[in-house]
Amino acid sequence: MIGAEKQVERQTPLRRYGDITVRSSNAHIARLAFLLASVLIILASISLVFIGRIASKEADRIAIADQQLLLENALDNWFVIIRRDQLSLARWDKAVRKISLRFDEDFVVDEFIDSLWFDFGLDRNLLVGPNNNILVNSRGEEVQFGAGVLAETDSLYRFVEEARAQYFKNRITLAGGYGQQSISSGTLHSHTVHGFLELDDKVSLVHAMAVVPDDGNSVLPDGNPVILISALYLDSELIEELNAQLAFSHLKFGLQSAASASLNHHPVTSPAGEALGVFSWQGNLPGGHIWETVIPVIAVLAVMLGALAFIIAWRIGKLTVSLAKSEEQNRFLAMHDTLSGLANRLQFMRALTAALERLPEVPFSLVQCDLDKFKQVNDTHGHGAGDTVIKVVAKRLTTAVQGAGLVCRVGGDEFVILLDLVERSALETVAARIIADVCQPIEVEHGVFARVGVSLGIATAPSHGDIAESLMAVADSALYQAKEQGRNRAVFVEDVLEQYVG
Ligand code: GH3
Ligand code: MG
Repeated sequence: MIGAEKQVERQTPLRRYGDITVRSSNAHIARLAFLLASVLIILASISLVFIGRIASKEADRIAIADQQLLLENALDNWFVIIRRDQLSLARWDKAVRKISLRFDEDFVVDEFIDSLWFDFGLDRNLLVGPNNNILVNSRGEEVQFGAGVLAETDSLYRFVEEARAQYFKNRITLAGGYGQQSISSGTLHSHTVHGFLELDDKVSLVHAMAVVPDDGNSVLPDGNPVILISALYLDSELIEELNAQLAFSHLKFGLQSAASASLNHHPVTSPAGEALGVFSWQGNLPGGHIWETVIPVIAVLAVMLGALAFIIAWRIGKLTVSLAKSEEQNRFLAMHDTLSGLANRLQFMRALTAALERLPEVPFSLVQCDLDKFKQVNDTHGHGAGDTVIKVVAKRLTTAVQGAGLVCRVGGDEFVILLDLVERSALETVAARIIADVCQPIEVEHGVFARVGVSLGIATAPSHGDIAESLMAVADSALYQAKEQGRNRAVFVEDVLEQYVG
């Protein structure tokens, strides 16, 4: 017995080109193509978002750097103002006479303190003598004369020292003493010293310069000059002015710890490198605006890219499916007879080879069939009628076999059936059914009937052979006997052999 498994295997080729297979492979390829397209869109979108983020961050970084530069310039500008104010008093022949040569308290109060505090608004003003003696120390309008000696540890001492060094660098000899080189706007900074310091518990802008003659009517003796130090507190009033000037929002000055990461900040240090505090403000960052502009562009691009990818994927899917379909059709045509739809000679030979390989465990039968008087149908009713007969007979053979084997058309009116039956009685039943069915009239035209018969030669493997050629040869000889004996009958190989032996 070839068995139920074999039956299914034989029937499978007749069914496997059905719609289900093609549709499921179609869906699979389409799914793959769409999956690929989705991955591409996601990757492209992520890349665009990444680029957008980098662009907005870079724009923010540049904006922060610009705002810090603006703040630095604004602070420098305040030092320039203090320098200008100091210069109007400290570079003055009269100041040399009334301060450096003969200290005149009234002059200091009326001319110096009055101008520096009342006119220029400088909070703290000091005059330090050649021996570091503080000639005058003023806080606002409060003035103290002979206020002790400036200690070397005092943070102001560094300013005094540097201002003195500037003086000696720019000193010129005049008749009877010393004066100072003329100052052009470009060399102003080389005559003065400035920086941030903490004074009176307040961070301050400090500026210092020597008291020197201007037109040389008065001259200084040799030795250290008197140094004028002025300080402007970095208080809320000054910050408000800076804020108005810079148009920053919420400009604040505080301790380092007060600066939040979300704000722009600019640290302030003393000349000695001591951290004094931090300016912080809510900067106008363009990154957010860029982001807002870029996001819709990214979305549009992603949609366009997605549509393009989906169209391409869909086209690829369709093309692949049509290629697969045509390949399946070619394979079907290669294995089937086009007229009857039965397995052709090639498929028959493959099935026979496979069945022979299963011998001896799975025996089987081979039935050679040839239609009787088929030529007459062609001659009487025409070739088209003959074709109709072939198609009807093919269906009848398939029905008569009842799924117990593979029916093949191997020539004009020749058919071969591979049966998984080997018992004589079962084979006789199938043979009788085949002959009875094929004999029935066939309508070849409307109301016109033709009749054919069929002769069968039946061999069983391995009893009558276990190689294709010999098995087919003995089945053929049985078929020949069936024709000889009058057609429309089945002849078993064992009967023919018996006849020869007998
Ligand atoms: P016998 O009873 O001895 O078998 O004779 P027969 O009339 O059946 O003729 P035979 O088997 O010798 O020859 C088969 C004929 O079938 C020969 C050929 O003209 C015809 N034929 C072969 N292929 C086709 C086909 O595809 N269509 C049609 N209509 N006829 C075909
Ligand atoms: Mg024939």
